Amino acid sequence: MVVVMKRDATDAEIERVAEKVREVGGEAFVSRGTVHTIIGLVGDTVIFRGLDLANLPGVDHLIQIGKPYKMVARALHPQPTIVKVGPAIVGRDTFTMIAGPCAVESEEQAFAAARAAKAAGAAILRGGAFKPRTSPYSFQGLGTRGLEILAACRDETGLPVVTEVVDSGDVELVAGWADALQIGTRNMQNYELLKAVGATHKPVLLKRGFSATVEEWLMAAEYVAQRGNSEIILCERGIRTFEQATRNTLDLGGMAVAQLESHLPVVVDPSHATGRHELVAPMARAAIAAGADGVMIDVHHDPGAALCDGPQALRPEELLALTKELEALAAVLGRRIG
Ligand code: PEP
Ligand code: MN
Repeated sequence: MVVVMKRDATDAEIERVAEKVREVGGEAFVSRGTVHTIIGLVGDTVIFRGLDLANLPGVDHLIQIGKPYKMVARALHPQPTIVKVGPAIVGRDTFTMIAGPCAVESEEQAFAAARAAKAAGAAILRGGAFKPRTSPYSFQGLGTRGLEILAACRDETGLPVVTEVVDSGDVELVAGWADALQIGTRNMQNYELLKAVGATHKPVLLKRGFSATVEEWLMAAEYVAQRGNSEIILCERGIRTFEQATRNTLDLGGMAVAQLESHLPVVVDPSHATGRHELVAPMARAAIAAGADGVMIDVHHDPGAALCDGPQALRPEELLALTKELEALAAVLGRRIG
């Protein structure tokens, strides 16, 4: 059950609802939105019904949601949510371009990618400082130095930065540098990490687990929302199937289902989905046509020399050409590239 408070509900009224729920052994998770504050209730709904919460001061209405996820459910919030990352917008009419290197390798490489992202009209710079690599022998990222470089790239380009956090102990550190926190595919079900980013006020870009159903993905988002952070961008990045021709199988159907089931914006990562640079543009075009809220694209000035995921990186001129195509498609589809 979810309690939706009135626009002008006071802190005391919100606390009174939470208190009543706790008195009967339930848990109350308060999420303060820009318009309404909502309170997610966990516990026995039969007992909650006896509390007559709908008639408490400050309460607008109650919603009974018959899904395992509630705060991220479309039923709670019929209008799509807009997430702000620094000055950038993700959601509704905007189709957001996120671009940058897979990993920050050096100052020179990161600046080249950041300038390419900016020149191509991206609104958000991506880049990994802490890299969750399948092999322990692969480049693991520059760590804190990588965060400093990303911040320097932001200073020059003005682009807000999204970067991955892989350890709940690093959330505060990464949140201190980044504009948005990325949860990678391998950590989608790391519930302690999800709770930790949910306790921050930074937007979260939540990638779909490579073996996760859409429902599991939305429940992962629910962990973040339940802790009070509803600034969540979902990211479809391909799932593991029998097909070996692409690195993963881009699930645009799953992306569309996530948009129907949830009020959160959903972006697509055609780079990690396909693992092949020549497939990035076709899948990015498919993503905008299918109604995605944006794309996240790897770019590298010298993909052959990349320390991470070179085969899927676009060169700067390829990224620029792709944006031009997406701009033309956006015009037809009534979206604007942001
Ligand atoms: C990434 O975006 O840098 C990344 C590691 O992606 P994923 O978690 O989707 O593999
Ligand atoms: Mn990568």
